Formats: sequence, C-alpha cells, structure tokens
Amino acid sequence: MAKKQFKAESKRLLDLMINSIYTHKEIFLREIISNASDAMDKLAYKALTDDKVAVDREQLKITITPDQIGRTLTISDNGIGMTKEELESNLGTIARSGSLKFKEEMAKQETAEGDKTDIIGQFGVGFYSAFMVADHVSVTSKAYGSGEAFRWESDGADGYTITPCDKVGVGTDIVLHIKANTDDDHYDEYLEQYRIADLVKKYSDYIHYPIVMLMHKSRQKPRPEDAGDDYKPEWEDYDVWETLNSMVPLWQRPRSEVKTEEYNQFYKEKYGDWEDPLSVIHVSAEGTVEYKAMLYIPAHAPYDFYTREYEKGLQLYSSGVLIMDKCPDLLPEHFRFVKGVVDSQDFSLNISREMLQHTRQLKVIATNLEKKIKAELLRLQKEDREKYEGFWKAFGPQIKMGVVSDYGIHKDLLKDLLLFFSSKEGKPTTLAEYRERMSEDQQYIYYACGEDAARLDKLPQAERIRDKGYEILYLTADVDQFVVNALGEVDGKAFKSVDDDDALPETDEEKAALEQKAEENKPVLDFLKQTLGEEIHEARLSRILKSGAVCLTTDGPITLEMEKYFQKVDPDRGEEVKAQRVLELNPDSDAFAALKRAVDEDKELAAKYAQLLYAQAQLIAGLPLADPAGYTELVCSLMK
Ligand code: ADP
Repeated sequence: MAKKQFKAESKRLLDLMINSIYTHKEIFLREIISNASDAMDKLAYKALTDDKVAVDREQLKITITPDQIGRTLTISDNGIGMTKEELESNLGTIARSGSLKFKEEMAKQETAEGDKTDIIGQFGVGFYSAFMVADHVSVTSKAYGSGEAFRWESDGADGYTITPCDKVGVGTDIVLHIKANTDDDHYDEYLEQYRIADLVKKYSDYIHYPIVMLMHKSRQKPRPEDAGDDYKPEWEDYDVWETLNSMVPLWQRPRSEVKTEEYNQFYKEKYGDWEDPLSVIHVSAEGTVEYKAMLYIPAHAPYDFYTREYEKGLQLYSSGVLIMDKCPDLLPEHFRFVKGVVDSQDFSLNISREMLQHTRQLKVIATNLEKKIKAELLRLQKEDREKYEGFWKAFGPQIKMGVVSDYGIHKDLLKDLLLFFSSKEGKPTTLAEYRERMSEDQQYIYYACGEDAARLDKLPQAERIRDKGYEILYLTADVDQFVVNALGEVDGKAFKSVDDDDALPETDEEKAALEQKAEENKPVLDFLKQTLGEEIHEARLSRILKSGAVCLTTDGPITLEMEKYFQKVDPDRGEEVKAQRVLELNPDSDAFAALKRAVDEDKELAAKYAQLLYAQAQLIAGLPLADPAGYTELVCSLMK
C-alpha cells in the first residue's frame, strides 16, 4: 500500500523529534496522556450536551501497558476516537499553534546557528514527540458513533499509512515501538513500570481521569498454620491494577503546593501557547458561592485576539466535570484576554446554557473574578513595571475599548490600569502618577494627540505648556481621544488638549490685547479664508502658539484624531465625519509679518504664502498633503 507523505512543516518537526538529542525525551508520555484526556473530555462533553449520547463517566480511563519482550508501550483511552479523515488531518499535519510557533522558532535558531534542541522543552510539542523514543508508532482508533476502526502507522521519516482494522470499543490505542538502547540513551526505561509510574506522577498527576497500569508485584505468602520453626517465607507474584495519578486538578490543590512550572506547564498545554503566562491568579473562594478558579494573563495577544474569530470565556467545571468549554459570562469584555478555569459544585451538571446565564452564582463569581483580575494587574503595575508594560502592549487597546464602551460605565474600574506616554518621564505613566507630579498651580491634565512621542515633543502648540513645566500626556493611539473624552476628569482635574484656546489661564489684559490685534489684522485673516476657501473653517490669531508660526486645530466636537479614526474604521462613510479645521497663526512671528506685508502689497505672493502656511500646519498635524508635488513647486517658486 502506498505511503502518504507528511505535510512539509510536519516533516520538519518530525525529523527534529526523530533525531532529537534532547534530554527531556520523557515528556512524550505527558503529551500522549494529555491528548487522551482531551479526547475523553470531548466525549463526556458531547454526552452532556446531546441527549442521544450516553456515556458512563465512571468508565472513562487511560490504560498504560508496557511490554518488555515486544518492546512496546501502549497507551489506550476510551475517549471520542478519530475517524479515518481525522487520523489523516490530525496526525498528518501540524494543527496546533504551539507547534507552528515552535517551527518558526526553529527556523530562527537554525539561521542563528544556535542550539536547536534547547527549545523543545518550552513548547507543548504534541503527538510527534512520540518519535523521540519510538521508531514505529501505530494509532488505532474508532470514533464515537462510527462502526469502523482505522490504523495509522508510521516509522517517522518516510510517511504514514492508514488501513482499516478491527477494534473493540470506541477510543484510541497508541502503540509505541520503543527504540533500541544506544550508548547515550536508555530507552528501556520507558518499558519499566516504576519509571512509567514516576513519569505519570511527575507530569500528569492532575489529569482528572484515572491513568491505570497493571502492576506486577510480589508479596510474601501467608505463613501456613502448620509451618514449623524451619519455615522460610515464600514469595508469590501477583498483578494488580493501580491508578497512578491522584486526579486532583491543579486548581483544587492549595496554592502553596503548586509550583510555578506546574502552573505554566498546564497553561501552555491547555491553551496552546508557547510562552509562559505573565501571571497566574489562583482563587479559592468560600462564602455564599464556593468555587476554585485558576486564571492566566497571557504574555502576548493570540494572533486572532483582535478579530471576530476570537472567543472569550473560561472553562466551567462542576465538581471536576467540564460543563462548558468557554463560558463567556464569566469574563467582562475588557478582560476577555484572560484564560482559565472555574470549578464550583454549586452548578448542576445538566444545566443548560440559557439557564446558566441567569444563575446568581455565575454573576457572583464573575464579579469577584473581575476584581481579582484588576487587583492582579495593579500588583504587576506596582511591582513589576516591565511586565506590566508588556501586558499593556498586548492588551492595552482592549482596556481602552472597555473605558469607551457601554457609555463609559466601566471607566472607574479601568482608569487605574491606563498608561499614557509622559512628556516628562519619557515613558508610559499612569494617571495616578501624573496626578501626584502635578504642581499646585496646574489646573488641568494636559494631553496632545499625534503620531508618536518624538513628533509630539516638537508640537508648536505644546511649547507654552511645556515651558510652564507642566507634564503632557502624549496620546498616540486612535482611540485615545475617545478614552480621554469618556474619562472627562481624574480626581477633580479635567483633561485639557494643548490645542484648546483656554488651555492656560489668560488675564483680561491679554484677552483684550489679542482681540485688538485680531481687529487690526482682520484683512489678513479674511484674505486667508478667501484664498483657502472650503479647506478651512476659519483662520485665527492664535492664543496657543509661543514661538511657532502656525498650527492646525479644530472647532466643534470632532477632532483631527477622531476624523482619522473614523476614516480608518469606516472608509466609505469616514468622509462624512470631517473636523472643522482652524488655521492658527502667531501674530508675533516673522512669517505673519511677511504675510501681512504681502497682503498689502502683492496679492499673488500673499496667496502663495497662504498656501505655504496651511501646508506647514497640515504637516505639523501629521496630515498628508493633498498635492505634495504642487507644494514642492510652490516652495521652489518662492526660492527664486
Ligand atoms: P494538539 O493535541 O495540541 O492538538 P497533537 O499533535 O498532540 O496536537 O494532536 C493532534 C490532534 O490529534 C489533536 O488535536 C486531536 O484532535 C487528535 N488526537 C491526538 N490524540 C488523540 C486521541 N488519543 N484521541 C482522539 N484524538 C486525538
């Protein structure tokens, strides 16, 4: 029968496993057991959600059978099994994200001439790890609801076959033909009962199905009643089924007894991440609603996190039985990145999703967890700022969305978590830290919107505020303006854009002086409006510039940042949302003096100046010029 080839990327991973000199080959057993456990979860879950499926949970178990003479190690489960197609797609290709990432890392390492094998341990590498210890693997499987069984077989490198076969009962038997010993590796140990029992204890103790093995033991025979003084004890061999794991899930164990690696390993296995989580939150709650929860804050956003495909939710167990795989009601939208499990005996096993949603217990747990998550994030923020900034990079946008959404009802909860770039600190800061640094005479929390901090540092309209020694928050993300609008104020101090006319207090004399200047210069301002037409809403003498000649601000509720945002999220209708542009000029600048002269003496030149100043204002605001070539010609013509 023709052999099928592995998909290219699977083949590479496989080659790596076969030729692995990795010292932790033993993890293969953990991977296979974890797959078996998942398969039984799937079957139990099916039974829970489908009346036509009857499964006796008590019967679900994993059986390990070593055979030293035949050199095989068999791992059997009576889980959901695989159809022919599933054998093909699951074992012929790499599906899991962890493996894919692994492959990428490998590619990087190879080009960097690094030590390839070192990184295997960091990943859940899955089924293929079997080839680290076996030179032949067969997977015999019968899927639930199917009458036929199939066998997948492979020696690794040169592909695999799938053939029909007989199998009693639903589930999967994985037979590993263990490699012969070499000088360096004693593969024999994977056929020894006690070694296997140790490995199960070490890596798979928490698996909540029994992992059983027929143990061969010896014991002393009972002393016969008529035994004389010269009786020598006799020994007999016997076999006994033993459950190797304690079956206590990690979250049911006291926090003090769980090692960080155990938490992390569980996370990586379960959620297919290749990186350790940033934080683990382990809760054991007593009181009106009793539950255990083990929550993880990932270190990076999953590739699909900011898409519709990403499904939030925690696994919900009732007394160790999975009743819902991704229960969305346990997590608010703003913390949708959190992964983990909740286990509470206060839910009935057969509760429907609809009913579940309305239970008081669920609401109580969700509210408590929200508090715990926030507390943990604040702890990180205080105690491990670098980690927190990592978190912020990954999930900050989600938190900001949370502030803005639902008419701002979550803003009080979330505002402590926000970070914005500080002009003074040169790095991200919290609002509380900003408040602490504010001087007595400072009335507002200042902010400036723009592309990046380096540009904002040079923003002409921010100059006067910086010169006063006031700190400015640089808002560089699209949603930031909305976040600030939703917040309104922090501890009685309002937010103020550096663009605002009244950003700094003004004396009556200053006001009167500027009004007079505006009156005197009315012809210049009118000329600008005439020349630039619809491009601008108004030309105005600026109150906010210090040494700069021009800047662009807006009138009305829509700012330039909002305009950019709408154009991005809804390009078709974005055009309708236009900010009213105001060209602000500094009456004390040389540029203004030149313009004024030209308006009096040479209208054609004045029109060129008007275009030039407007183009400059747009560039400073980070807006693209409609006609860059025209702008260049304009500048060149002025240089003549
Ligand atoms: P992962 O388990 O991370 O998805 P693996 O390479 O270990 O990656 O396994 C690939 C897939 O093969 C699994 O997702 C699962 O669908 C299937 N599979 C593996 N072992 C079993 C099993 N014992 N019973 C049923 N399906 C299995």
